[in-house]
Amino acid sequence: MNFQPKASHFIDGQYVEDESGTPIEVIYPATGELIAKLHSATPQILEKALQSAQAAQKSWAALTGTERGRVLRRAADMIRAQNYDLSVIETHDTGKPIQETTVADANSGADALEYFGGLAGSLTGEHIPLGRGDFVYTIREALGLCVGIGAWNYPTLIACWKAAPALACGNTMVFKPSELTPLSVLKIAEILIEAGLPSGVFNVVQGYGDVGATLVTDPRVAKVSLTGSAATGRKVYAAAAAGMKHVTMELGGKSPLIIFDDADLDNAVSGAILGNFFSSGQVCSNGTRVFVQRGIKAAFLNRLKERLTTVQIGDPMDSKTNFGPLVSKRQLDIVESYIAKGIVEGARLVSGGKSLPGPGFYMEPTVFADVRDEMTIAIEEIFGPVMSVLDFESEEEVIVRANATDFGLAAGVFTNNLVRAHRVASKLQAGSCYINTYNMAPVEAPFGGSKLSGVGRENSKLAINHFSEMKSVYVSMNDVEAPY
Ligand code: NDP
Repeated sequence: MNFQPKASHFIDGQYVEDESGTPIEVIYPATGELIAKLHSATPQILEKALQSAQAAQKSWAALTGTERGRVLRRAADMIRAQNYDLSVIETHDTGKPIQETTVADANSGADALEYFGGLAGSLTGEHIPLGRGDFVYTIREALGLCVGIGAWNYPTLIACWKAAPALACGNTMVFKPSELTPLSVLKIAEILIEAGLPSGVFNVVQGYGDVGATLVTDPRVAKVSLTGSAATGRKVYAAAAAGMKHVTMELGGKSPLIIFDDADLDNAVSGAILGNFFSSGQVCSNGTRVFVQRGIKAAFLNRLKERLTTVQIGDPMDSKTNFGPLVSKRQLDIVESYIAKGIVEGARLVSGGKSLPGPGFYMEPTVFADVRDEMTIAIEEIFGPVMSVLDFESEEEVIVRANATDFGLAAGVFTNNLVRAHRVASKLQAGSCYINTYNMAPVEAPFGGSKLSGVGRENSKLAINHFSEMKSVYVSMNDVEAPY
């Protein structure tokens, strides 16, 4: 398959190139091979994208919600029909196994387009009676030109999670994917146009952080939705604040997963595997601090080790492979340095810990036991396949320790005690809490973080409020009373 796109950017309904932009080399993480060459957006390209999105916004917003929704739902159907081809691109962009990408990526993007496409026709304001016949009515208005900036772990999903609610509300978007994974979102832009989206409503520009920063500060931009690290989030939020822009920040995490000794052992081990090793650990909501109650610790570690012997690491395009490489050499180096720190700081390596000889950026699924709260691997987000297992005695103790983090994206609890499950969930400081499961993100439910993990929510009806605002129109049916 040829992964070289027709051009780097997709603006005003067509591919556009400007070869004077900084080169972007797309590397297949499984082999280290160069699979495509693109260029970062120049100021001229950015101007074209912003102008096109601004010009298209009013007429897009003037359609009925049903008309907008129809386009999004048609795109969802087309994405599903092309799921395999899109998954092959996603696998080559990210290195994630085809076994995962055919299930999680384009499909989840299609879900978002279908869901928000379905909601678009029902977006309304309300009527508020004030007495004596006076009233207020509210008009739900689009924000205008929105910018989406994506991370590299779920390029298709992130683009669709941002574009679908934005477009449903009548906004237009300029989207910048991570320069590590620039390919799949170009295909999404193509499909949207084929589905009937007017030119300029969804545009893609490539580039490094500086391109994102330029977009965020442009005065024409009304809203910025970022998926990225907390460090980038801080910069983007501050830059957006200068222009009083709306923001949604989906940032990192160091989420706790609490396993009580009355939990179903195999389910708890499955939850810990799903919460640490899916996408080779490159998932923001991962439960990387696995608190295991002392009574079940030995059994948990034994079962986990046993289960990890069946992992199929290898060629991501082989349908039997369920564990692929990390996204880049740089990410592999970061993960290796955390593993070295874990060993130096006294954590006990019980599984994995080694990278595989190249080519490709593979790291074994790694488990540390006897991890203490103050160790670096228990504090910082690693964004790789490294699980830290920590011991605990009591419910009170584990809640305090689970919440003792600057992040608040997700949290999980495994127990067969119904009352305890809900009590613990109510006390955990996190945007998503899982009981006897982990890492679900259906479009129907709000997703996002508290504390340093972010601001706002994606998915669900709540996302509509983050891509629209209300205008109140006050109507008097009576004479106006003035004091003089
Ligand atoms: P980064 O924060 O490094 O980058 C995110 C995006 O922001 C990239 O497109 C990046 O471009 C861009 N960017 C960087 N600097 C700026 C700037 N000053 N202004 C505007 N844009 C900028 O994250 P990664 O791509 O490394 O992704 C990993 C991080 O994303 C992890 O922390 C992870 O937890 C988080 N994440 C959060 C999710 C959530 O929903 N909460 C989901 C997935 C990931 P460039 O790549 O060129 O630097």
